[in-house]
Amino acid sequence: MSRSRILLAAGTVATALTAVAITATAGHALGGPDAGTAIVAAPGGTGYAIVSGTGGQYNYGSSVFTGSMAGQPLAAPMVDAATRPGSGGLWMAGADGGVFAFGAPFYGSMGNKPLSKPIVAIVPTASGNGYTLVGADGGTFNFGDAPYPGSLAGTKLAAPIVDAVRPAGGGLLLAAADGGVFALGGAQFQGSMGGTALARPVTAIVDSPSGKGYLLVGQDGGTFAFGDFPFPGSLAGKRLNAPVVDAVRGIDTGVWMLGSDGGVFAMSAPFYGSAVTQANTPPAPAVGSTVVTGALAKATCPAGGSITVSVTIGDQVARMLAAARAGGTSLCGSGWRSVDGQIALRKQNCGQPPTNDTIYNKSPSACKPPTARPGTSMHEKGLAIDFTNCNRGSACFTWLSGNAATYGLHNLPGEDWHWSTTGR
Ligand SMILES: [Zn+2]
Repeated sequence: MSRSRILLAAGTVATALTAVAITATAGHALGGPDAGTAIVAAPGGTGYAIVSGTGGQYNYGSSVFTGSMAGQPLAAPMVDAATRPGSGGLWMAGADGGVFAFGAPFYGSMGNKPLSKPIVAIVPTASGNGYTLVGADGGTFNFGDAPYPGSLAGTKLAAPIVDAVRPAGGGLLLAAADGGVFALGGAQFQGSMGGTALARPVTAIVDSPSGKGYLLVGQDGGTFAFGDFPFPGSLAGKRLNAPVVDAVRGIDTGVWMLGSDGGVFAMSAPFYGSAVTQANTPPAPAVGSTVVTGALAKATCPAGGSITVSVTIGDQVARMLAAARAGGTSLCGSGWRSVDGQIALRKQNCGQPPTNDTIYNKSPSACKPPTARPGTSMHEKGLAIDFTNCNRGSACFTWLSGNAATYGLHNLPGEDWHWSTTGR
């Protein structure tokens, strides 16, 4: 009987525990043995769960609490977690190879078995009927329907393996702390940072939806995109209160990074909340943005008020507001929008009375005015701004037309006031 074998069915008990989990996170940073260690996306990508070193589970957006090990003794700290594809169940993995299944089947573990190196990652199969444990030496241990993808055990590595992911098409991609990438079992190698000096070690790898690219994420929130993975922004150069320890992909190629304090950094992805409300606050800049949460920044408008945007574009927006003011144009507007805010807009714009179908499914262009589906708006990613008094012919529109591109913002044709990093 393995102590690592915990099966907890989601149901009435899980529902009752949800409130506890949420209460426990409010305003309390994670740290020490309970530091944040893994972030996993909810099915559908409209939320995420944070897993801590003691096996705690904290849920945001559409992520549903499925159970935790909080308060129960662990033989080794929890090091990684994975959502079961399709089902929303969750597996956690301990450094000793123990696997803890919550609302998901248990397929086996390395708990109580000798390991040459600690486990660093658990990677589900596409079917959700198995998983692979990966060791710091690149050893792989496969359970359920996970095929043997090969292994690096016995290979001399320049740096330990820190994370792994199973790309679309199969195989396994392993990332090492020095930025090395190892493609096993037919996974496509698209490049690596191996041999390049890094400011901080790599801690996570995220695959692209196509299987033809990936993103490496460093402890400092620096990102390195390979293949078809689009650059999602980077935190390199920002002062972080806690190192980035994991990252995961949401809808499309948005990425959530997790700080060890439970802070979440939403990179080209909607922000659903985090364990810390005030994180990573840098010194007040002369011209720049103030970071107000782990994901968002505030740029002050010259005539009062402010614009909240993604931390990745906060400084450039602040510089743009200052430049416009120097040119005699006072800009302000509305940037980041919460997921709840987007849902409210869909209720208002996409048909009366609002139904689940009009809110979540209806084509954006069928809404008046066109309104992106919840979880997909550039406003939710903090990468779009609706400027006030900015119709064609206004001082605002004229100034932005001549200058916004310099600051990385582009107009959405047909919506004079809407400017974003992609023009969408
Ligand atoms: Zn807009």
